[in-house]
Amino acid sequence: MAAGEYPRTLPEFDAWFATEDDCRQYLVKLRWPAGFRCPRCSSTKAWPTKRGLMHCKGCGHQTSITSGTIFHRTRSPLRLWLQAMWWVTTQKNGASALGLQRILGLGSYETAWTWLHKLRRAMVRPGRDRLSGEVEVDETFVGGVEKGGGRRHIGKKALVAVAAEIRGTAIGRIRLQCVRDSSARSLLPFIQQAVAPGTVVVTDGLPTYVGVGDIGYVHRRKVVQGSGQEADALLPRVHRVVSLLKRWLLGTHQGGVERAHLPYYLDEFTFRFNRRASRHRGLLSYRLMQQALAVDPVPYGRLIGRSDAPPDLGAP
Ligand SMILES: [Zn+2]
Repeated sequence: MAAGEYPRTLPEFDAWFATEDDCRQYLVKLRWPAGFRCPRCSSTKAWPTKRGLMHCKGCGHQTSITSGTIFHRTRSPLRLWLQAMWWVTTQKNGASALGLQRILGLGSYETAWTWLHKLRRAMVRPGRDRLSGEVEVDETFVGGVEKGGGRRHIGKKALVAVAAEIRGTAIGRIRLQCVRDSSARSLLPFIQQAVAPGTVVVTDGLPTYVGVGDIGYVHRRKVVQGSGQEADALLPRVHRVVSLLKRWLLGTHQGGVERAHLPYYLDEFTFRFNRRASRHRGLLSYRLMQQALAVDPVPYGRLIGRSDAPPDLGAP
């Protein structure tokens, strides 16, 4: 098995990852695609130990295979983690904590929930490419029950900024992010993070977006008023993404998503959406494993805390 290869079916998965040792060997290849090299003596001769370390044959130095990744200090078998990743990515509509708990026989719902959130965190690739070409940008409310206040009003719902690449009549990649409000201070930084400079950015007539042309983009405004068109028709791609997102939150998660955790769900939705054309579900699982080895560990305290929630999201 060479680096870059991954199991395509469940029987293949079971054969590849039959033992903890298989899993360790695979993670070593994923983490050091060019081959392991001892950080102390540069020797390439090393073997994985049962404790998840690479033991250098040259100097005896031991390097952790999982430090700095979502597997950092895990007490669970790596095999269980890989099974979790396979299961999460092969479910067409995503996974619930209850489903994960059942399928893996995890001891508690809390464990399953924590695992899912760690995996969601790994779904956002550090340093990922920004959207380009032509991109529609809009914002929408997610969750809660709408009670007046109009479209831009922040009540009990969370405001989510949406960017979607225009690919002919289709949608390319997307980015989603919780934002504090619909001010320029909230939405312009979202565009800068999500969209490459020089891109054509298509928005509606909201005054917030007036500055888009001043921060390095080609701004194309579509104004609802007097155009004779509904808002949905002006920015059809973002509206399609939003309706799929809402359906997914209601369906897979029964709408039971706390706003403090919404950023994680947005990451999972984005991960799935941007890879919807992948020929093999196994490839999704592979990408997730790759990214799981590339992110910082997330202590449980931070997962259940509100540190990832946009500030003042719940404030009246
Ligand atoms: Zn060494």
